[in-house]
Amino acid sequence: MAPKKRVVKRRDAAQLSAAGPRLWAPWRDEDLRSVRSDHQACIFCFGKLSEARRRERLVLFENRDVLVMLNKYPYNNGHVMVAPRSHVASPELLARADRAVLGDAVAASIKAMRASLHPAAFNVGANLGLAAGAGFAEHMHWHIVPRWVGDNNFMPVLASTRVLSQSLEDSYKQLRPIFKNLGAELS
Ligand SMILES: [Zn+2]
Repeated sequence: MAPKKRVVKRRDAAQLSAAGPRLWAPWRDEDLRSVRSDHQACIFCFGKLSEARRRERLVLFENRDVLVMLNKYPYNNGHVMVAPRSHVASPELLARADRAVLGDAVAASIKAMRASLHPAAFNVGANLGLAAGAGFAEHMHWHIVPRWVGDNNFMPVLASTRVLSQSLEDSYKQLRPIFKNLGAELS
């Protein structure tokens, strides 16, 4: 049995390395692949949320224009997504004012995480379109992934396994009080 397992792992590693730059590969939104691609099933489109529903949906902040939520299958602790409230696939489809608010929300989220999580760096980006790796392409969203020195160890490369030190629940508990006040940064 043991040799067979090793062969499988090698193939996984080869597939991963062939997939392209590691930093972008995790942003394939695997968690969203099963979501139906219509407006009703969109995880970024919702009405008023109770605190319990907000926690279930991992929504850290929402106002009339933008929302911030934790990624259900994070690449790293504190991996959040920032999306406009408008159900659009690409930034040029947003009104100019909405683009500005979205940019402000990305900056405010980075500022909030810098102060609370003290990361050494960030990966920030978006996958626009299925061919770019977006699991759910109809509602654009920015990914913000805080990074710490040494967080990307050999495990993701060799075994396609991400090692996270914090549960989603703990991430939510840590970040919700901070993001709750994000509106002050955006007004
Ligand atoms: Zn949507």
